[in-house]
Amino acid sequence: MKTDTQKAAESPLLVSPTAPGSKLKIVTYPEKILLNPTEALENIDGRVQRMIDSMAEAMYAAPGVGLAANQVGWGKSLLVYDISAREGERDLRVLINPKILASEGQIVSENEGCLSIPDYRADVKRAERILIEGLDREGNPVRLEAEDFHAIVLQHEMDHLNGKLFIDRISSLKRELYKRRVRKAMREQEDEV
Ligand code: ZN
Repeated sequence: MKTDTQKAAESPLLVSPTAPGSKLKIVTYPEKILLNPTEALENIDGRVQRMIDSMAEAMYAAPGVGLAANQVGWGKSLLVYDISAREGERDLRVLINPKILASEGQIVSENEGCLSIPDYRADVKRAERILIEGLDREGNPVRLEAEDFHAIVLQHEMDHLNGKLFIDRISSLKRELYKRRVRKAMREQEDEV
């Protein structure tokens, strides 16, 4: 996910998700891996640690406030995010196999954006508070409550892990217009080749 103040930057091109440690490419809609639910992550080994570091690097470089594993082509239930104030302090957080246990309230996430949906933003209705259970990067069970922006970021990233995008949560008319725009852009790209 990206915030209003962050501009979409071109991510450095690369690479196979089977090669953690190398720079990752953030895939964009309509890439299929974004549309399928991810699988639970079973072995939280060194490879996963390297993947987490590479995902964090890709997220900070984009820049974004959150990134799900399938956004870098890896269909596992893993997300990273950092909602610390942008003045230098980093506070990387990792969740593995997260589940929402409870949610309440409703807020409008204004001008929500996504690193996988470049140049498009929309208001999205989200739960105001959520209770989540999952694993931290060491595999220890964690339970956390999040509200407001923290809750929005987590809902956005967990949607990714479930094969959902924020455009699935806007009106069908808006979504259709967006899809049309993407198809047109893809056709124009083909024409240029
Ligand atoms: Zn996103």
